[in-house]
Amino acid sequence: MRFLITGGAGFIGTALANYLIQQGHTVRVLDDLSAGHAEQLHPDIHFTRGDVEDKPKVWRLLNKVDCVYHLAARVSVPESGLYPREYNKTNVSGTVAIMEAMRDAGVKRVVLASSGAVYGEQAVAKVHEELLPNPSSPYAVSKLAAESYVHTIGAPWHIETVCLRIFNAYGPNQAIPPIHAPVIPLFIRQVLGNGSVVIHANGQQIRDYIYVDDVVMALVAAATTAGLSHQTINIGTGIGTSLNQLVDLIEQVSKRKVQRLTTPTVLGGVSTLIADTHRAEKLLNFNPKISLAEGLALLLQQRNLAL
Ligand code: NAD
Repeated sequence: MRFLITGGAGFIGTALANYLIQQGHTVRVLDDLSAGHAEQLHPDIHFTRGDVEDKPKVWRLLNKVDCVYHLAARVSVPESGLYPREYNKTNVSGTVAIMEAMRDAGVKRVVLASSGAVYGEQAVAKVHEELLPNPSSPYAVSKLAAESYVHTIGAPWHIETVCLRIFNAYGPNQAIPPIHAPVIPLFIRQVLGNGSVVIHANGQQIRDYIYVDDVVMALVAAATTAGLSHQTINIGTGIGTSLNQLVDLIEQVSKRKVQRLTTPTVLGGVSTLIADTHRAEKLLNFNPKISLAEGLALLLQQRNLAL
Protein backbone atom coordinates (compact mmCIF):
# COMPACT_ATOMS: atom_id res chain seq x y z
CA MET A 1 0.00 0.00 0.00
CA ARG A 2 0.97 3.65 -0.35
CA PHE A 3 0.81 5.74 2.80
CA LEU A 4 1.24 9.41 3.62
CA ILE A 5 2.08 10.04 7.28
CA THR A 6 1.73 13.64 8.43
CA GLY A 7 3.86 14.29 11.51
CA GLY A 8 5.78 11.19 10.50
CA ALA A 9 9.09 12.47 11.87
CA GLY A 10 7.68 12.61 15.40
CA PHE A 11 7.79 9.99 18.12
CA ILE A 12 4.85 7.78 17.04
CA GLY A 13 5.14 8.68 13.34
CA THR A 14 8.75 7.53 13.10
CA ALA A 15 7.93 4.15 14.68
CA LEU A 16 4.98 3.75 12.31
CA ALA A 17 6.85 4.84 9.17
CA ASN A 18 9.81 2.56 9.88
CA TYR A 19 7.51 -0.39 10.55
CA LEU A 20 5.51 0.14 7.34
CA ILE A 21 8.59 0.48 5.14
CA GLN A 22 10.00 -2.74 6.59
CA GLN A 23 6.73 -4.45 5.63
CA GLY A 24 7.32 -3.45 1.99
CA HIS A 25 4.88 -0.54 1.75
CA THR A 26 5.56 2.81 0.10
CA VAL A 27 5.79 5.52 2.75
CA ARG A 28 5.79 9.29 2.38
CA VAL A 29 6.25 11.55 5.38
CA LEU A 30 5.25 15.19 5.64
CA ASP A 31 6.55 16.98 8.72
CA ASP A 32 7.51 20.59 9.38
CA LEU A 33 10.12 19.43 11.93
CA SER A 34 8.75 21.83 14.53
CA ALA A 35 9.12 18.91 16.96
CA GLY A 36 10.24 15.91 14.90
CA HIS A 37 13.63 14.69 13.63
CA ALA A 38 13.93 13.12 10.21
CA GLU A 39 17.28 11.37 10.95
CA GLN A 40 15.58 8.40 12.59
CA LEU A 41 13.56 7.62 9.46
CA HIS A 42 14.57 4.65 7.28
CA PRO A 43 16.38 5.88 4.13
CA ASP A 44 13.72 4.39 1.80
CA ILE A 45 11.04 6.66 3.27
CA HIS A 46 10.25 9.66 1.10
CA PHE A 47 10.55 12.61 3.48
CA THR A 48 9.20 16.10 2.72
CA ARG A 49 9.60 19.02 5.06
CA GLY A 50 6.47 21.13 5.08
CA ASP A 51 3.29 22.25 6.74
CA VAL A 52 0.02 20.36 6.57
CA GLU A 53 -1.66 23.53 5.32
CA ASP A 54 0.71 23.83 2.33
CA LYS A 55 -1.87 22.78 -0.23
CA PRO A 56 0.33 22.29 -3.34
CA LYS A 57 2.77 20.17 -1.34
CA VAL A 58 0.03 18.08 0.23
CA TRP A 59 -1.62 17.62 -3.14
CA ARG A 60 1.59 16.27 -4.68
CA LEU A 61 2.15 13.91 -1.76
CA LEU A 62 -1.40 12.53 -1.93
CA ASN A 63 -0.98 11.31 -5.50
CA LYS A 64 -1.95 7.60 -5.60
CA VAL A 65 -1.99 7.29 -1.81
CA ASP A 66 -4.26 4.56 -0.36
CA CYS A 67 -4.38 5.84 3.20
CA VAL A 68 -3.35 8.93 5.15
CA TYR A 69 -2.20 8.74 8.73
CA HIS A 70 -2.80 12.18 10.16
CA LEU A 71 -0.46 12.53 13.14
CA ALA A 72 0.84 16.08 12.72
CA ALA A 73 -0.13 18.10 15.76
CA ARG A 74 1.02 20.22 18.66
CA VAL A 75 0.91 17.75 21.52
CA SER A 76 1.32 19.30 24.94
CA VAL A 77 -1.65 19.76 27.29
CA PRO A 78 -0.01 22.51 29.43
CA GLU A 79 1.45 24.32 26.42
CA SER A 80 -1.96 24.37 24.75
CA GLY A 81 -3.22 26.57 27.59
CA LEU A 82 -0.52 29.12 26.75
CA TYR A 83 -0.94 29.04 22.97
CA PRO A 84 -4.54 27.98 22.25
CA ARG A 85 -4.64 29.77 18.88
CA GLU A 86 -1.62 27.85 17.63
CA TYR A 87 -3.11 24.58 18.84
CA ASN A 88 -6.32 25.43 17.05
CA LYS A 89 -4.42 26.27 13.86
CA THR A 90 -2.27 23.16 13.66
CA ASN A 91 -4.61 20.59 15.17
CA VAL A 92 -7.95 21.82 13.85
CA SER A 93 -7.28 23.90 10.70
CA GLY A 94 -4.45 21.53 9.78
CA THR A 95 -6.86 18.59 9.95
CA VAL A 96 -9.48 20.39 7.87
CA ALA A 97 -6.78 21.18 5.29
CA ILE A 98 -5.74 17.52 5.06
CA MET A 99 -9.36 16.36 4.74
CA GLU A 100 -10.09 18.92 2.01
CA ALA A 101 -6.99 17.87 0.08
CA MET A 102 -7.89 14.17 0.49
CA ARG A 103 -11.38 14.86 -0.82
CA ASP A 104 -9.98 16.66 -3.87
CA ALA A 105 -7.30 14.05 -4.53
CA GLY A 106 -9.73 11.14 -4.09
CA VAL A 107 -7.92 9.39 -1.21
CA LYS A 108 -10.26 6.92 0.41
CA ARG A 109 -9.03 6.27 3.95
CA VAL A 110 -7.71 8.34 6.83
CA VAL A 111 -6.59 7.37 10.32
CA LEU A 112 -6.44 10.27 12.79
CA ALA A 113 -4.28 10.10 15.91
CA SER A 114 -6.69 11.47 18.48
CA SER A 115 -6.23 11.31 22.23
CA GLY A 116 -7.72 9.88 25.40
CA ALA A 117 -7.47 13.47 26.66
CA VAL A 118 -10.83 14.22 24.99
CA TYR A 119 -12.60 12.40 27.86
CA GLY A 120 -11.44 14.76 30.62
CA GLU A 121 -12.73 14.04 34.13
CA GLN A 122 -15.39 11.30 34.08
CA ALA A 123 -17.44 9.53 36.75
CA VAL A 124 -16.23 6.06 35.68
CA ALA A 125 -12.71 4.65 36.14
CA LYS A 126 -12.38 3.26 32.61
CA VAL A 127 -13.54 5.50 29.83
CA HIS A 128 -15.42 4.09 26.84
CA GLU A 129 -16.25 5.66 23.51
CA GLU A 130 -19.97 6.20 24.24
CA LEU A 131 -19.21 8.67 27.04
CA LEU A 132 -19.78 12.34 26.42
CA PRO A 133 -16.29 13.86 26.05
CA ASN A 134 -15.42 16.46 28.67
CA PRO A 135 -12.21 18.06 27.35
CA SER A 136 -10.37 20.19 29.89
CA SER A 137 -7.59 21.78 27.81
CA PRO A 138 -7.32 23.48 24.41
CA TYR A 139 -5.32 20.41 23.29
CA ALA A 140 -8.20 18.08 24.17
CA VAL A 141 -10.74 20.40 22.53
CA SER A 142 -8.61 20.53 19.37
CA LYS A 143 -8.44 16.72 19.20
CA LEU A 144 -12.20 16.39 19.65
CA ALA A 145 -12.81 19.00 16.95
CA ALA A 146 -10.36 17.21 14.65
CA GLU A 147 -12.27 13.93 15.14
CA SER A 148 -15.55 15.63 14.26
CA TYR A 149 -14.09 17.26 11.17
CA VAL A 150 -12.54 14.02 9.96
CA HIS A 151 -15.82 12.10 10.23
CA THR A 152 -18.00 14.97 8.97
CA ILE A 153 -15.89 15.92 5.95
CA GLY A 154 -15.22 12.27 5.12
CA ALA A 155 -18.81 10.97 5.12
CA PRO A 156 -20.30 12.63 2.01
CA TRP A 157 -17.19 11.81 -0.02
CA HIS A 158 -17.12 8.17 1.07
CA ILE A 159 -13.75 8.56 2.72
CA GLU A 160 -13.32 5.80 5.33
CA THR A 161 -12.49 7.58 8.57
CA VAL A 162 -11.01 6.05 11.72
CA CYS A 163 -10.09 8.08 14.80
CA LEU A 164 -7.88 6.38 17.37
CA ARG A 165 -7.96 7.85 20.86
CA ILE A 166 -4.45 7.00 21.95
CA PHE A 167 -3.72 7.02 25.69
CA ASN A 168 -0.21 7.60 27.16
CA ALA A 169 2.26 6.26 24.61
CA TYR A 170 5.91 5.77 25.54
CA GLY A 171 8.95 4.21 23.92
CA PRO A 172 12.24 4.88 22.15
CA ASN A 173 12.93 8.28 20.56
CA GLN A 174 10.33 10.09 22.65
CA ALA A 175 11.42 13.71 23.02
CA ILE A 176 11.90 15.25 26.48
CA PRO A 177 11.06 18.93 25.97
CA PRO A 178 12.03 21.06 28.98
CA ILE A 179 8.60 22.51 29.74
CA HIS A 180 6.25 19.59 29.13
CA ALA A 181 8.28 16.41 29.33
CA PRO A 182 6.39 13.11 29.21
CA VAL A 183 6.87 11.37 32.53
CA ILE A 184 8.40 8.03 31.47
CA PRO A 185 11.39 9.23 29.42
CA LEU A 186 11.95 12.05 31.91
CA PHE A 187 12.05 9.71 34.93
CA ILE A 188 14.25 7.19 33.14
CA ARG A 189 16.73 9.87 32.19
CA GLN A 190 16.80 11.08 35.80
CA VAL A 191 17.28 7.57 37.17
CA LEU A 192 20.06 6.66 34.74
CA GLY A 193 21.80 9.94 35.58
CA ASN A 194 21.47 9.19 39.32
CA GLY A 195 19.20 12.20 39.69
CA SER A 196 15.95 12.38 41.62
CA VAL A 197 12.40 12.33 40.32
CA VAL A 198 9.83 14.97 41.20
CA ILE A 199 6.38 13.67 42.11
CA HIS A 200 3.59 16.21 41.92
CA ALA A 201 0.64 16.27 44.33
CA ASN A 202 0.37 12.86 46.01
CA GLY A 203 1.59 10.72 43.13
CA GLN A 204 -1.86 9.13 42.79
CA GLN A 205 -2.52 10.40 39.25
CA ILE A 206 -3.39 7.29 37.25
CA ARG A 207 -2.63 6.85 33.57
CA ASP A 208 -2.83 4.07 30.98
CA TYR A 209 0.71 3.71 29.54
CA ILE A 210 1.03 1.92 26.20
CA TYR A 211 4.27 0.97 24.45
CA VAL A 212 4.72 2.60 21.05
CA ASP A 213 5.07 -0.73 19.17
CA ASP A 214 1.58 -1.64 20.37
CA VAL A 215 0.28 1.74 19.18
CA VAL A 216 1.85 1.00 15.77
CA MET A 217 -0.01 -2.33 15.62
CA ALA A 218 -3.28 -0.52 16.32
CA LEU A 219 -2.53 2.07 13.63
CA VAL A 220 -1.80 -0.69 11.11
CA ALA A 221 -5.06 -2.49 11.95
CA ALA A 222 -6.96 0.81 11.65
CA ALA A 223 -5.71 1.28 8.09
CA THR A 224 -6.18 -2.28 6.90
CA THR A 225 -9.31 -3.69 8.59
CA ALA A 226 -12.35 -3.67 6.30
CA GLY A 227 -15.66 -2.04 7.23
CA LEU A 228 -14.34 0.34 9.86
CA SER A 229 -15.60 3.60 8.49
CA HIS A 230 -16.73 6.34 10.86
CA GLN A 231 -15.29 4.66 13.94
CA THR A 232 -13.67 6.20 17.00
CA ILE A 233 -11.66 3.70 19.04
CA ASN A 234 -9.67 3.83 22.29
CA ILE A 235 -6.09 2.59 22.10
CA GLY A 236 -4.70 1.80 25.53
CA THR A 237 -3.96 -1.24 27.65
CA GLY A 238 -6.93 -0.96 29.99
CA ILE A 239 -4.50 -0.97 32.93
CA GLY A 240 -4.10 2.05 35.19
CA THR A 241 -0.78 2.85 36.88
CA SER A 242 -0.29 5.61 39.43
CA LEU A 243 2.79 7.82 39.38
CA ASN A 244 3.99 6.19 42.61
CA GLN A 245 3.54 2.71 41.10
CA LEU A 246 5.41 3.83 38.00
CA VAL A 247 8.40 4.90 40.08
CA ASP A 248 8.26 1.60 42.04
CA LEU A 249 8.35 -0.27 38.73
CA ILE A 250 11.27 1.81 37.40
CA GLU A 251 13.14 0.95 40.62
CA GLN A 252 12.47 -2.77 40.16
CA VAL A 253 13.38 -2.85 36.49
CA SER A 254 16.48 -0.62 36.76
CA LYS A 255 17.58 -2.19 40.06
CA ARG A 256 18.37 1.32 41.31
CA LYS A 257 17.00 3.15 44.31
CA VAL A 258 15.14 6.19 43.05
CA GLN A 259 15.25 9.38 45.08
CA ARG A 260 11.76 10.86 45.18
CA LEU A 261 11.12 14.55 45.74
CA THR A 262 7.51 15.52 46.34
CA THR A 263 5.84 18.83 45.65
CA PRO A 264 2.26 19.83 46.45
CA THR A 265 1.97 21.56 43.06
CA VAL A 266 -0.72 20.02 40.91
CA LEU A 267 0.29 20.08 37.25
CA GLY A 268 -3.23 19.97 35.88
CA GLY A 269 -4.82 17.22 33.88
CA VAL A 270 -7.35 14.72 35.13
CA SER A 271 -6.75 12.45 38.13
CA THR A 272 -7.47 9.15 36.35
CA LEU A 273 -7.45 8.20 32.68
CA ILE A 274 -7.72 4.52 31.73
CA ALA A 275 -9.00 3.15 28.43
CA ASP A 276 -11.87 0.75 28.12
CA THR A 277 -10.45 -1.42 25.33
CA HIS A 278 -13.47 -3.52 24.35
CA ARG A 279 -14.09 -1.71 21.08
CA ALA A 280 -10.45 -2.02 20.00
CA GLU A 281 -10.55 -5.75 20.75
CA LYS A 282 -13.79 -6.21 18.84
CA LEU A 283 -13.18 -4.02 15.79
CA LEU A 284 -9.39 -4.17 15.41
CA ASN A 285 -8.70 -7.50 17.11
CA PHE A 286 -6.25 -5.42 19.09
CA ASN A 287 -4.58 -6.67 22.25
CA PRO A 288 -1.46 -4.88 23.43
CA LYS A 289 1.47 -7.26 23.83
CA ILE A 290 4.02 -5.35 25.89
CA SER A 291 3.49 -4.93 29.64
CA LEU A 292 4.67 -1.76 31.35
CA ALA A 293 7.51 -3.67 33.05
CA GLU A 294 8.65 -5.08 29.68
CA GLY A 295 8.37 -1.70 27.99
CA LEU A 296 10.39 0.00 30.71
CA ALA A 297 13.05 -2.72 30.45
CA LEU A 298 13.28 -2.19 26.68
CA LEU A 299 13.60 1.52 27.18
CA LEU A 300 16.24 1.19 29.88
CA GLN A 301 18.24 -1.13 27.66
CA GLN A 302 18.08 1.34 24.80
CA ARG A 303 18.92 4.36 26.98
CA ASN A 304 21.79 2.54 28.62
CA LEU A 305 23.28 1.83 25.23
CA ALA A 306 22.78 5.46 24.27
CA LEU A 307 24.66 6.76 27.32
P1 NAD B 1 5.34 14.44 18.22
O1 NAD B 1 5.37 15.86 18.64
O2 NAD B 1 6.58 13.64 18.42
O3 NAD B 1 4.89 14.33 16.70
C1 NAD B 1 4.10 15.30 16.05
C2 NAD B 1 4.82 15.67 14.77
O4 NAD B 1 4.01 16.60 14.04
C3 NAD B 1 6.18 16.34 15.01
O5 NAD B 1 7.18 15.63 14.30
C4 NAD B 1 6.01 17.75 14.46
O6 NAD B 1 7.20 18.25 13.89
C5 NAD B 1 4.91 17.54 13.44
N1 NAD B 1 4.13 18.76 13.15
C6 NAD B 1 3.62 19.64 14.05
N2 NAD B 1 2.97 20.63 13.40
C7 NAD B 1 3.04 20.35 12.07
C8 NAD B 1 2.55 20.99 10.91
N3 NAD B 1 1.84 22.13 10.97
N4 NAD B 1 2.80 20.42 9.70
C9 NAD B 1 3.54 19.28 9.62
N5 NAD B 1 4.03 18.64 10.69
C10 NAD B 1 3.78 19.16 11.90
O7 NAD B 1 4.11 13.75 18.99
P2 NAD B 1 3.68 12.21 19.08
O8 NAD B 1 3.71 11.86 20.50
O9 NAD B 1 4.41 11.39 18.07
O10 NAD B 1 2.16 12.34 18.64
C11 NAD B 1 1.71 12.01 17.33
C12 NAD B 1 0.20 12.14 17.28
O11 NAD B 1 -0.40 11.26 18.24
C13 NAD B 1 -0.30 13.54 17.65
O12 NAD B 1 -1.40 13.85 16.82
C14 NAD B 1 -0.75 13.42 19.08
O13 NAD B 1 -1.76 14.34 19.40
C15 NAD B 1 -1.26 11.99 19.10
N6 NAD B 1 -1.22 11.40 20.44
C16 NAD B 1 -0.03 11.11 21.04
C17 NAD B 1 -0.01 10.53 22.31
C18 NAD B 1 1.27 10.17 23.03
O14 NAD B 1 1.19 9.68 24.15
N7 NAD B 1 2.44 10.38 22.44
C19 NAD B 1 -1.23 10.28 22.96
C20 NAD B 1 -2.41 10.62 22.32
C21 NAD B 1 -2.41 11.15 21.05
